[in-house]
Amino acid sequence: MRQTPDNIWLEILENLDDTARQDVYLRQVIPLSITSDALRIAVPSVYTHDRIERRFRTAIQSVLATLIGAQCMLIITVDESVSDIPEQVENPESEINQQVETGLNRNYVFDRFVVGSSNRICHATALMVSENPGREYNPLFIYGGVGLGKTHLLHAIGNRISANYPEKKVLYVTSETFMNEYVESIMKRTSAEGFRVKYRRADMLLIDDIQFLQRKEGTQEEFFNTFNDLYLNSNQIVMTSDRSPDTLENLEERLKSRFEWGMVSKIEMPEYETRLGILRQKCEDQGLDNMSDDVLSYVAEIVTTNIRELEGMLVRLIAQSTILKEELNVDFARQVLNDVASPALIPQRKTATAKGIQTVVSEYFGVDAAELVSEKRTKELVLPRQIAMYLCREMTQMSFANIAQAFNKQNHTTIIHACTRTEELIKKDNETREMIDVLMAQLR
Ligand code: ADP
Ligand code: MG
Repeated sequence: MRQTPDNIWLEILENLDDTARQDVYLRQVIPLSITSDALRIAVPSVYTHDRIERRFRTAIQSVLATLIGAQCMLIITVDESVSDIPEQVENPESEINQQVETGLNRNYVFDRFVVGSSNRICHATALMVSENPGREYNPLFIYGGVGLGKTHLLHAIGNRISANYPEKKVLYVTSETFMNEYVESIMKRTSAEGFRVKYRRADMLLIDDIQFLQRKEGTQEEFFNTFNDLYLNSNQIVMTSDRSPDTLENLEERLKSRFEWGMVSKIEMPEYETRLGILRQKCEDQGLDNMSDDVLSYVAEIVTTNIRELEGMLVRLIAQSTILKEELNVDFARQVLNDVASPALIPQRKTATAKGIQTVVSEYFGVDAAELVSEKRTKELVLPRQIAMYLCREMTQMSFANIAQAFNKQNHTTIIHACTRTEELIKKDNETREMIDVLMAQLR
């Protein structure tokens, strides 16, 4: 099994945000070696070294912690000969310029996008748009949860257009970049014209994560004008968002309604077969041809919420098996995934019982198990009760109605409320997440 420093570095880049990914300095990095204690990289100058230290160390370190383990340190060395490595010199300028100009990531293409029932319509509309830009489906609005392939599709459209119509100016940006450049253009009068030209002369604008414009009134105004210009000239606009246009908040009505003029397409989490297909595709992308199908099936079964997480698991397994020199089989996979991943973030095998959950939770919080299922609504009981309900949903096969019964509730809306609330807490509060981790670990 092959897990090179290059692969680890690519995975780290993947996990940084788009602005970082496009950073010219990060692109100069040459990964040297990887062990369980250190990732060594070389950079061509002290300046690059300092810049990476200052701006990216924390983010890189945190990706390393999930991929390899918290003990793994990033070690950056300066080696001036790095910039002379033939591969890099081949055509460094044009490579970088092209990336900056279009913003496109060439790895995200249609050929590497696995189609299943969860994304079939989205994929078809994206293809249609890239065959016939500005005609049908303008604007195209793709929405769905985190890590489901929106950004991949957006780049795929751009890459296809660039290949089929090399003369067309394609521009990919996140709406955050759009805002930053807009703000800069106001502050420096000299760049105002450059900003307009850049965005309004694009033949195709691919704008990612449009939900970021919520509450940014000034940028919304500018985007509105850009949108109108492009639209009136029949230039294609494609947007992505983590939610549908009608549920975007603090966004001008006239923008929302424009978002719905063309086609609005939802992308969902793929079912098991597609998840397995995606894992096989990722192995192929990386030239891993001897990956055991059992391991892939196991990962596809375990990770059900997010494709980025799905890929992350795979990389993590390969990294660990290389570093620990262990064969990568299902047993090893199970062991690693239990050790490394936060159980609150991976779906659980549903083997717990409501009684077991109530006992563990009441012991943890020092409350009486009988009171957990009583009518009493005192403060010390509310949170433990909600968490117990959530755990029932996650760790048992019970339906909402069954869970309601187990807690002596007439109505299962209480349970739905408890689950949503706990999910929110897990997302934004580390302490709650750790607590759920501990409880889940006990229940397993
Ligand atoms: P989003 O923008 O929706 O948060 P991304 O497009 O960044 O998600 O996707 C996360 C990762 O999952 C990327 O590495 C992407 O290549 C991969 N991915 C998502 N959907 C698919 C798919 N259908 N086929 C292959 N890879 C996919
Ligand atoms: Mg995205």
